[in-house]
Amino acid sequence: MTLSIAKAIYALLAVGWYIIRIPHERRARRTPVSRSARGLQEIILLSISFTGLGLLPFIYVATGFPRFANYPFQPALAWLGALVAIAALILFHLTHRALGRNWSVSLDLRESHRLVTEGVYRYVRHPMYSAFWLWAIAQALLLPNFIAGLSGLVGFGTLYFFRVAQEERLMLDAFGAEYGDYMARTGRVMPRFHA
Ligand code: SAH
Repeated sequence: MTLSIAKAIYALLAVGWYIIRIPHERRARRTPVSRSARGLQEIILLSISFTGLGLLPFIYVATGFPRFANYPFQPALAWLGALVAIAALILFHLTHRALGRNWSVSLDLRESHRLVTEGVYRYVRHPMYSAFWLWAIAQALLLPNFIAGLSGLVGFGTLYFFRVAQEERLMLDAFGAEYGDYMARTGRVMPRFHA
Protein backbone atom coordinates (compact mmCIF):
# COMPACT_ATOMS: atom_id res chain seq x y z
CA MET A 1 0.00 0.00 0.00
CA THR A 2 1.28 3.45 -0.97
CA LEU A 3 -0.11 6.88 -0.18
CA SER A 4 -1.56 7.20 -3.69
CA ILE A 5 -3.36 3.88 -3.31
CA ALA A 6 -4.71 4.91 0.09
CA LYS A 7 -6.04 8.13 -1.44
CA ALA A 8 -7.58 6.20 -4.33
CA ILE A 9 -9.25 3.74 -1.95
CA TYR A 10 -10.65 6.65 0.04
CA ALA A 11 -12.01 8.31 -3.09
CA LEU A 12 -13.53 5.07 -4.40
CA LEU A 13 -15.21 4.24 -1.13
CA ALA A 14 -16.53 7.81 -0.87
CA VAL A 15 -18.14 7.34 -4.28
CA GLY A 16 -19.64 4.05 -3.03
CA TRP A 17 -21.03 5.87 0.01
CA TYR A 18 -22.70 8.39 -2.24
CA ILE A 19 -24.08 5.74 -4.60
CA ILE A 20 -25.71 3.95 -1.66
CA ARG A 21 -27.44 7.19 -0.72
CA ILE A 22 -28.70 8.39 -4.13
CA PRO A 23 -31.89 6.26 -4.36
CA HIS A 24 -32.85 7.23 -0.82
CA GLU A 25 -32.41 10.90 -1.55
CA ARG A 26 -34.66 10.51 -4.58
CA ARG A 27 -37.35 8.74 -2.61
CA ALA A 28 -37.09 11.23 0.26
CA ARG A 29 -37.90 14.05 -2.18
CA ARG A 30 -41.15 12.28 -3.09
CA THR A 31 -42.15 11.35 0.48
CA PRO A 32 -44.19 14.07 2.22
CA VAL A 33 -42.88 15.42 5.55
CA SER A 34 -45.49 15.72 8.28
CA ARG A 35 -43.34 17.46 10.86
CA SER A 36 -39.85 18.87 10.84
CA ALA A 37 -37.38 19.96 13.50
CA ARG A 38 -35.04 21.45 10.89
CA GLY A 39 -33.83 24.92 11.70
CA LEU A 40 -30.76 27.11 11.46
CA GLN A 41 -28.91 24.83 13.87
CA GLU A 42 -29.47 21.84 11.58
CA ILE A 43 -28.26 23.78 8.51
CA ILE A 44 -25.08 24.80 10.33
CA LEU A 45 -24.49 21.30 11.69
CA LEU A 46 -24.99 19.68 8.28
CA SER A 47 -22.54 22.16 6.72
CA ILE A 48 -19.90 21.50 9.39
CA SER A 49 -20.30 17.77 8.98
CA PHE A 50 -20.12 17.98 5.18
CA THR A 51 -16.98 20.12 5.36
CA GLY A 52 -15.23 17.65 7.65
CA LEU A 53 -16.34 14.40 6.03
CA GLY A 54 -16.47 15.51 2.41
CA LEU A 55 -14.96 18.82 1.42
CA LEU A 56 -11.61 18.86 3.27
CA PRO A 57 -10.65 15.24 2.51
CA PHE A 58 -11.72 15.76 -1.11
CA ILE A 59 -9.45 18.81 -1.48
CA TYR A 60 -6.60 16.87 0.15
CA VAL A 61 -7.02 13.81 -2.08
CA ALA A 62 -7.30 15.97 -5.21
CA THR A 63 -4.54 18.52 -4.51
CA GLY A 64 -2.48 17.47 -1.46
CA PHE A 65 -3.51 20.65 0.38
CA PRO A 66 -2.78 21.42 3.25
CA ARG A 67 0.76 19.99 3.01
CA PHE A 68 2.04 21.50 6.26
CA ALA A 69 -0.30 19.14 8.15
CA ASN A 70 1.13 15.95 6.56
CA TYR A 71 2.68 13.23 8.68
CA PRO A 72 4.49 10.05 7.58
CA PHE A 73 2.29 7.51 5.81
CA GLN A 74 1.95 4.13 7.52
CA PRO A 75 0.71 1.30 5.29
CA ALA A 76 -0.62 -0.79 8.20
CA LEU A 77 -2.87 2.07 9.34
CA ALA A 78 -4.12 2.55 5.79
CA TRP A 79 -4.97 -1.16 5.44
CA LEU A 80 -6.90 -0.98 8.69
CA GLY A 81 -8.63 2.17 7.41
CA ALA A 82 -9.69 0.36 4.23
CA LEU A 83 -11.27 -2.43 6.29
CA VAL A 84 -13.08 0.03 8.56
CA ALA A 85 -14.35 1.93 5.51
CA ILE A 86 -15.75 -1.28 4.02
CA ALA A 87 -17.50 -2.05 7.32
CA ALA A 88 -18.89 1.51 7.32
CA LEU A 89 -20.25 1.06 3.79
CA ILE A 90 -21.94 -2.23 4.64
CA LEU A 91 -23.55 -0.76 7.76
CA PHE A 92 -24.57 2.38 5.85
CA HIS A 93 -26.32 0.22 3.27
CA LEU A 94 -28.09 -1.90 5.92
CA THR A 95 -29.35 1.15 7.84
CA HIS A 96 -30.83 2.66 4.68
CA ARG A 97 -32.47 -0.64 3.84
CA ALA A 98 -34.01 -0.91 7.32
CA LEU A 99 -35.14 2.74 7.60
CA GLY A 100 -36.57 2.87 4.09
CA ARG A 101 -38.97 5.74 3.54
CA ASN A 102 -38.51 6.93 7.15
CA TRP A 103 -35.01 8.23 6.39
CA SER A 104 -34.21 11.97 6.21
CA VAL A 105 -30.92 13.79 5.95
CA SER A 106 -32.14 16.07 8.76
CA LEU A 107 -34.73 15.84 11.54
CA ASP A 108 -38.05 15.14 9.85
CA LEU A 109 -41.03 12.93 10.47
CA ARG A 110 -42.55 11.60 7.26
CA GLU A 111 -46.22 11.02 6.63
CA SER A 112 -47.17 7.70 8.28
CA HIS A 113 -43.70 7.51 9.82
CA ARG A 114 -43.05 4.13 11.35
CA LEU A 115 -40.68 3.45 14.23
CA VAL A 116 -38.09 0.99 12.92
CA THR A 117 -36.78 -1.38 15.59
CA GLU A 118 -35.68 -4.36 13.53
CA GLY A 119 -32.68 -5.29 11.40
CA VAL A 120 -29.64 -3.23 12.40
CA TYR A 121 -32.01 -1.13 14.55
CA ARG A 122 -32.66 -4.02 16.88
CA TYR A 123 -29.80 -3.40 19.32
CA VAL A 124 -28.70 0.13 18.38
CA ARG A 125 -30.91 3.22 18.00
CA HIS A 126 -28.55 5.18 15.73
CA PRO A 127 -26.72 2.64 13.56
CA MET A 128 -26.50 5.14 10.68
CA TYR A 129 -24.55 7.44 12.98
CA SER A 130 -22.40 4.42 13.92
CA ALA A 131 -21.67 4.05 10.19
CA PHE A 132 -20.68 7.74 10.01
CA TRP A 133 -18.39 7.31 13.03
CA LEU A 134 -16.75 4.32 11.33
CA TRP A 135 -16.36 6.39 8.16
CA ALA A 136 -14.69 9.21 10.11
CA ILE A 137 -12.32 6.70 11.77
CA ALA A 138 -11.49 5.22 8.35
CA GLN A 139 -10.76 8.72 7.03
CA ALA A 140 -8.34 9.32 9.92
CA LEU A 141 -6.59 6.00 9.26
CA LEU A 142 -6.35 6.39 5.47
CA LEU A 143 -5.27 10.02 5.12
CA PRO A 144 -1.96 10.91 6.85
CA ASN A 145 -2.79 14.57 7.34
CA PHE A 146 -3.79 16.16 10.64
CA ILE A 147 -6.44 18.34 9.01
CA ALA A 148 -7.89 16.22 6.20
CA GLY A 149 -7.66 13.03 8.29
CA LEU A 150 -9.15 14.30 11.53
CA SER A 151 -11.71 16.72 10.11
CA GLY A 152 -14.25 13.90 9.71
CA LEU A 153 -14.18 13.07 13.42
CA VAL A 154 -14.48 16.76 14.35
CA GLY A 155 -17.14 17.54 11.73
CA PHE A 156 -19.35 14.53 12.27
CA GLY A 157 -18.70 14.62 16.03
CA THR A 158 -20.12 18.15 16.15
CA LEU A 159 -23.27 17.11 14.28
CA TYR A 160 -23.66 14.01 16.40
CA PHE A 161 -23.32 15.65 19.81
CA PHE A 162 -25.69 18.50 19.01
CA ARG A 163 -28.24 16.43 17.14
CA VAL A 164 -28.70 13.11 18.84
CA ALA A 165 -30.52 14.31 21.99
CA GLN A 166 -32.78 16.48 19.86
CA GLU A 167 -33.56 13.58 17.57
CA GLU A 168 -34.45 11.39 20.54
CA ARG A 169 -36.76 14.11 21.88
CA LEU A 170 -38.50 14.23 18.50
CA MET A 171 -38.90 10.46 18.46
CA LEU A 172 -40.18 10.40 22.07
CA ASP A 173 -42.66 13.11 21.19
CA ALA A 174 -43.89 11.17 18.18
CA PHE A 175 -43.82 7.62 19.53
CA GLY A 176 -44.07 8.09 23.31
CA ALA A 177 -43.66 4.93 25.40
CA GLU A 178 -42.89 2.85 22.31
CA TYR A 179 -39.67 4.85 21.85
CA GLY A 180 -39.07 4.94 25.63
CA ASP A 181 -39.12 1.14 25.74
CA TYR A 182 -36.91 1.01 22.66
CA MET A 183 -34.41 3.34 24.37
CA ALA A 184 -34.39 1.14 27.44
CA ARG A 185 -33.31 -1.93 25.47
CA THR A 186 -30.84 -0.42 22.99
CA GLY A 187 -27.56 1.47 22.94
CA ARG A 188 -27.07 4.74 21.07
CA VAL A 189 -24.33 3.79 18.62
CA MET A 190 -23.05 0.53 20.10
CA PRO A 191 -25.05 -2.53 21.18
CA ARG A 192 -25.53 -2.75 24.91
CA PHE A 193 -24.55 -6.10 26.30
CA HIS A 194 -26.33 -7.39 29.36
CA ALA A 195 -24.73 -9.93 31.65
N1 SAH B 1 -30.45 8.34 13.95
C1 SAH B 1 -30.81 7.25 13.09
C2 SAH B 1 -31.48 7.73 11.80
C3 SAH B 1 -30.74 8.77 11.04
S1 SAH B 1 -31.72 9.48 9.73
C4 SAH B 1 -29.58 6.43 12.82
O1 SAH B 1 -28.46 6.89 13.09
O2 SAH B 1 -29.69 5.30 12.35
C5 SAH B 1 -32.60 10.71 10.62
C6 SAH B 1 -34.10 10.52 10.58
O3 SAH B 1 -34.42 9.22 11.00
C7 SAH B 1 -34.85 11.47 11.51
O4 SAH B 1 -35.65 12.27 10.70
C8 SAH B 1 -35.70 10.59 12.41
O5 SAH B 1 -37.02 11.02 12.41
C9 SAH B 1 -35.60 9.22 11.78
N2 SAH B 1 -35.42 8.12 12.74
C10 SAH B 1 -34.48 7.99 13.68
N3 SAH B 1 -34.59 6.81 14.35
C11 SAH B 1 -35.64 6.16 13.77
C12 SAH B 1 -36.27 4.90 13.99
N4 SAH B 1 -35.81 4.05 14.92
N5 SAH B 1 -37.33 4.58 13.20
C13 SAH B 1 -37.79 5.42 12.26
N6 SAH B 1 -37.24 6.62 12.01
C14 SAH B 1 -36.19 6.99 12.75
